[in-house]
Amino acid sequence: MATIAYLSVGGGVALAAAAGLFGPWEPVALFCLGLATLAALVVSVWVWRPSRVWPWAAIAVALALFLAAGIARSALHTMGDLTESRALLPDLLALPGYLLLAGGLLGFSRQGVRGPHRQSSVVLDGLIAALAFAAIAWVFAIQPLLLRQGAPLSVTLVMIAYPSLSSFMVVVTLRIAFNPDQEHVPAYWFLLAGMTFMFVGDVAYLLADANLAQIRAQFLDLPYALAYLGAGAAAIHVSMRKLTELGRQRPMGASRLRVAIVAVALVIPALLTLADHGSAADRAVLCLLMLAMTAAAVLRIVQALQTAESSEARLVHQAHHDSLTGLPNRRMMEQHLSQLLDRTAADSTSVALLYLDLDRFKLINDTHGHGHGDELLIDVAQRLRTSVRPTDLVSRIGGDEFMIVLGDVVGVFQALDLADRLRASLRAPFVVRGMSFYVSASIGLAFASGDDPAATTEALVRDADTAMYQAKDAGRDAVAIYDESMRARMTERVELERDLHLAVPLNQLHLVYQPIVRLPRGTVVGLEALVRWSHPKHGLIMPARFIPLAEESELISEIGAWVLEEAVRQFAAWRRQAPHMADLYVSVNLSGAQLHDDRIVDRVADALALHGLDGASLSLELTESVVMEDPAAAATSLAALRALGARIAIDDFGAEYSSLAYLKRFPVTTLKIDKSFVDGIAAEDSPDATLIATIVAMARALDIATVAEGVETSAQAERLTELGCDAVQGFLFSRPVEVDQVPGVVASLGRRGLRLVSG
Ligand code: C2E
Ligand code: MG
Ligand code: MG
Repeated sequence: MATIAYLSVGGGVALAAAAGLFGPWEPVALFCLGLATLAALVVSVWVWRPSRVWPWAAIAVALALFLAAGIARSALHTMGDLTESRALLPDLLALPGYLLLAGGLLGFSRQGVRGPHRQSSVVLDGLIAALAFAAIAWVFAIQPLLLRQGAPLSVTLVMIAYPSLSSFMVVVTLRIAFNPDQEHVPAYWFLLAGMTFMFVGDVAYLLADANLAQIRAQFLDLPYALAYLGAGAAAIHVSMRKLTELGRQRPMGASRLRVAIVAVALVIPALLTLADHGSAADRAVLCLLMLAMTAAAVLRIVQALQTAESSEARLVHQAHHDSLTGLPNRRMMEQHLSQLLDRTAADSTSVALLYLDLDRFKLINDTHGHGHGDELLIDVAQRLRTSVRPTDLVSRIGGDEFMIVLGDVVGVFQALDLADRLRASLRAPFVVRGMSFYVSASIGLAFASGDDPAATTEALVRDADTAMYQAKDAGRDAVAIYDESMRARMTERVELERDLHLAVPLNQLHLVYQPIVRLPRGTVVGLEALVRWSHPKHGLIMPARFIPLAEESELISEIGAWVLEEAVRQFAAWRRQAPHMADLYVSVNLSGAQLHDDRIVDRVADALALHGLDGASLSLELTESVVMEDPAAAATSLAALRALGARIAIDDFGAEYSSLAYLKRFPVTTLKIDKSFVDGIAAEDSPDATLIATIVAMARALDIATVAEGVETSAQAERLTELGCDAVQGFLFSRPVEVDQVPGVVASLGRRGLRLVSG
């Protein structure tokens, strides 16, 4: 708004002055315009607060000097009269103004100094244009001026200074105009318009001074008035801030206009040779100008070639490296590997390929954001690089996956050694933004000895990939070596995962239930729901085979949600139909993805409400690793679930961390002691018995119930009774059974339990 008002009022005044409407008041009107512009400049800088003020200050002082020069000029009435040296006063004001103006403008274009090449090419183009202008000025203005007798040397010098400074201004203007980093905001265009008008004014003055053209005084002032308007508008517009800010870096293509200007400039020498030149000295000056121009043009060409060369080198580098870590990328790794394979065929050495995948990296990205994740990856890359031999190649092939090519390995054991070294290098915590992260990796190893004709790049990559999955399956933080049987397992796994997508929609899943019985009587207190998959081709598939697959894909949420809903529904039905089951609870296994899903609390609450069950009739089982993945988040979710009344059981306790310390942090109600402890418990002096005794004592102190898993013999059951275990679960009492058998099994266990005690 302010810009439009300023431009319309100012433009009106300038045009009215040029039309002679102000009569003798014309200089006053123009002076007012100048003052208004100066004021606009100062106020704008104060209001918009650009990141740097000095360029604007320099421009303001320059404008003030031009204004003063204008006043002096019209007061002295020296237009066109070059014989008097007092005529020089206005020029002595105006000439420093040029320098200040140029300085200020350079202050803007300075912003984009990113790569000297980009900038100097702009300067060189400007220089070529300026030299062309200087050559014209020489032939048509300066040379005639010098020929004129009677002008004192000082006047001549000043007169030569003007075209030179104008040429310099051309360089400066073009530098801004073609600066690839300058955003083309309105302020930019206003500024360029102002500079163009100034140049037009300079040319007009030169022509008038040299008496080459008769131009009325008020017309001479018009371009300058418009130049002021340009500068003022540039300052008033909001976008003025952008002039001193770093713009987005744009690809540097020589604009068509720029090419056109340089081309025209290069044609000028040829045209000037048509003009009639005076003395040999004059021709020498012209010749020098031409030579300078040619030199600038040659430099420009050389530079363009260099730029092309370096950007080509950059492109080649980019095509072969990962932008985050700077490591070679997959493409380069494959090239390197295939070269090595060719060589090993010749000298029968061996090559190994390691496929390294960080464990649970996604969790770090999800919980701490990609910023942390990226920095962590950079650090990991650094450690990997420093823990291999200089001849080995560490590449990043995406996400948290790295491939390491080991050349000249003596045997599998050496490769295994290096793989272990890599795993060890990751063991110390990584500190990212003040936080410590523990990282482990699963590594697949594929090995090719030189005389193996089947060893191709693709085969090796595929095998290392397969082996890596085996390492993950083996519980992560491990190295697995590829062998032939892996391929078959891998294919089967891929097929199973594909089929698993249809398991829920096609109703292929069902639940079986295993009783949990109380010691010493053996009466049923609860039922654990265990999922089964009836595969159309492979028959019944156990959860140990497909739950890990589901956990790797997003499928686990769908399957988990189905299990929860189905178990609650079925249990509510039993409550209604079988009175002897009314006091039991149903226990459902939860995966990590389910616990860390924001909707878990709502899901559980909804399922209970829908089927009219209270929270106490539901138990949720989680393994230690699920809880420890993100303890803080787990504590929050578990507290909310516990608040619904649900029991919280730690499944397979002792199989992983066996840390009782963390139990206090979570609202745990039950510990399910892992089968591995129960197995050997019946033996004399079994260390496991002592362990279980400790766990039971500790749990009692924390008011936590204990359930022993996998009880298969009555000796084990008796021992567990002695050790004070609250309940057991195992084949001794019942295998997991189908839905229709559950009421019968529960009833018969009640009776058998009585016998067990009496017997
Ligand atoms: P879990 O939760 O520890 O379940 C107990 C497993 O031990 C069951 O295997 C059960 O059949 C088996 N078992 C019980 N008593 C004995 C015994 O005396 N001897 C032996 N050798 N085994 C016994 P299952 O049904 O194959 O389930 C394996 C695991 O799969 C479960 O271990 C659980 O972690 C997971 N799982 C099962 N159903 C689900 C589910 O719906 N969701 C999730 N996320 N995981 C499930
Ligand atoms: Mg369980
Ligand atoms: Mg278990």
